[in-house]
Amino acid sequence: MSTSKVTPLVDSYNRRVRDLRISVTDRCNFRCTYCMPAEGMKWLDRSQILSFEETTRLARIFVEHFDFDGIRLTGGEPTVRAQLPVLIEKLSQLVVPSTGKKVDLAMTTNGSALRNLSDDLKKAGLNRLNISIDSLDRDIFSQMTRRDQLDKVLDGIDAAIDSGFDPVKINIVMIRGVNDHEIVDFATFGRRKGVQPRFIEFMPLDADDAWSMEKVVPADEIIDKINQVYPLEPIVHGPEPAQRFKYKDGAGEVGIIPSVTKPFCGNCDRVRLTAEGQFMTCLFAIDEFDLRSILRTGGTDEELITEIERAVGKKWAGHQIGNVNFIKPPRSMSQIGG
Ligand code: SAM
Ligand code: SF4
Repeated sequence: MSTSKVTPLVDSYNRRVRDLRISVTDRCNFRCTYCMPAEGMKWLDRSQILSFEETTRLARIFVEHFDFDGIRLTGGEPTVRAQLPVLIEKLSQLVVPSTGKKVDLAMTTNGSALRNLSDDLKKAGLNRLNISIDSLDRDIFSQMTRRDQLDKVLDGIDAAIDSGFDPVKINIVMIRGVNDHEIVDFATFGRRKGVQPRFIEFMPLDADDAWSMEKVVPADEIIDKINQVYPLEPIVHGPEPAQRFKYKDGAGEVGIIPSVTKPFCGNCDRVRLTAEGQFMTCLFAIDEFDLRSILRTGGTDEELITEIERAVGKKWAGHQIGNVNFIKPPRSMSQIGG
């Protein structure tokens, strides 16, 4: 990189920004009801998607110039991107200037391809895995993902454990009247398998526009239900969005992402890069900053740095879900990179 001076990124609300989500594809083999429509998704053309070299160049700027210490790969479904371990190998070499340590590289996946891939991902340098699984009941799983692949995802969780990922976290989007009767089942599953459930409040980023406040299961209710069966105590933690709790009997931990009922915008330290190289400073942002066109017109690192700083300077205080001022972004979760 031509610019050597390390400059941490701070937004106009004095929040230090240091965590990058990279979507590696907009495509997916599932069609979760809370994310994609059943049919009719228009995929990006191959040529629109950043190459591994382009993605790595941008990631290098975030890590080596802006001192980011975390990168999470997502999508769409990241495992449908061909040669994914090759990208992971490149990204896992990046070193955070302030610590001298390699960047913490994580990925969120629907888990369906892990039996074949997880050893290669681990060897390539992936540190952490979150696997999405919304129901332990085959019919409800099929209804929520529109794919009859519960067994494959369960096997994917086992594969991740076998490859040595520790902890393995499981993401569960809670929807009232659909899977909210499974809260304690997931806690039991987590305790038995040694994986950490992360319950996520349903956000208005579904392509079908079916979100409503009544479908959100509040974080407090989730914790109450688990606490009645397996007593919990809070864990004091850093800026990460999950509220974390550990079981009083020492059998592991559980997290809740209360994006709707208790937004964590005041501590938000993340920004996002879509598969086609649009830079976004919030999941709910309306503005996008086109880094791909700078990359593809011979732009210098300094030009990319200036554009990233301009975008972060405009990062807003927070989203307004549930408020009359809320504007639903034009993209669905799969098109941004959740
Ligand atoms: N395909 C991968 C997966 O499902 O894990 C990665 C991409 S997905 C968009 C990332 C995460 O966003 C998943 O845990 C998914 O459950 C969550 N998600 C998608 N749509 C959501 C919504 N409307 N509200 C809350 N979480 C959502
Ligand atoms: Fe695909 Fe993940 Fe969206 Fe489900 S949540 S449709 S697995 S991108």
